[in-house]
Amino acid sequence: MEKQKISIIIPCYSEEEAIPICYNALIKEVILRLSEVNFEIIFIDDGSKDETLKVIKNLSEKDSRIKYLSFSRNFGKEAAIYAGLNHATGDYVAIMDVDLQDPPELLILMYETLLTDEYDCVATRRTTRQGEPFIRSFFAKAFYRFINKISQTDIVEGARDFRLMKRPMVEAILKVGEYNRFSKGIFEWVGFNTKWIEFENVERVAGITKWSFWELFLYSLEGIISFSTAPLAIASVTGFIFFVLSFLAIVVIIIREMMWHGSAFGWPSLVCIIFFIGGIQLFCIGILGQYMARTYLETKKRPIYIVKEHN
Ligand code: UDP
Ligand code: MG
Repeated sequence: MEKQKISIIIPCYSEEEAIPICYNALIKEVILRLSEVNFEIIFIDDGSKDETLKVIKNLSEKDSRIKYLSFSRNFGKEAAIYAGLNHATGDYVAIMDVDLQDPPELLILMYETLLTDEYDCVATRRTTRQGEPFIRSFFAKAFYRFINKISQTDIVEGARDFRLMKRPMVEAILKVGEYNRFSKGIFEWVGFNTKWIEFENVERVAGITKWSFWELFLYSLEGIISFSTAPLAIASVTGFIFFVLSFLAIVVIIIREMMWHGSAFGWPSLVCIIFFIGGIQLFCIGILGQYMARTYLETKKRPIYIVKEHN
């Protein structure tokens, strides 16, 4: 039988320290142990500001299994994942962080699980968020609760991008060519049988996290807007409720005025109400704007990433 091939996609953004550590771990803990399989490691240099590309190039000269793509600027991890999937040639494709927060040895278990033919994909979720700031975990939990209430696509709490997929699933994901990408949602949206395995949070081996709180906040908005139109409905329902309330209030005031003359008083209360309603209107227009902006970006059909260099 012909040897199967596993492609491992590793997005890297300014990770010069972590790359060699990650490479060595992969060799030692996965590639040497799975001798019956061919490997291909695809490093995506996502417009790094340090020597990442140089480090990758050096490695690729020594090891022909290493492929790399270097973006013309930072396009974000989602774009890097998409580029990797686009260029992967394996029968199985894995996505993994470079900082070893995704334990590489799990790949063996994932591969063995897929061999049984029961599943198309093995994905991972972390059960703890140890070592992460409290406030970050708090908002992450709130995000998962909220998005699962309003979206038909199930977003698994604590899900990592770390997963191994069979070729048909990869092809399906590549067909989802949207510009505003929220992979955690896309992986679920395409369907297929997924087995979830759990592990405890591991802290990164070197370097620092590339996500600020604000970026994570914007990313969560991306998830909500990409996978649910419920906020639009919330906006119209709010509008309707206020319409009914104000109508009732007008009726009450008219009746009161007819019974006790001069009962419509108080401009402060009026100003408060105007501000209140004005705020809600702006909020709802804002929600509309978010969807419009996404539609606008999608219609431009800009490429998801631009490659400057590759081997
Ligand atoms: N990453 C990327 N582009 C970015 C940000 C991050 O390719 O714009 C990569 C990064 O190099 C790492 C992975 O995505 O391999 C996860 O990033 P990080 O460890 O900073 O995120 P965290 O684990 O803190 O959520
Ligand atoms: Mg990390």
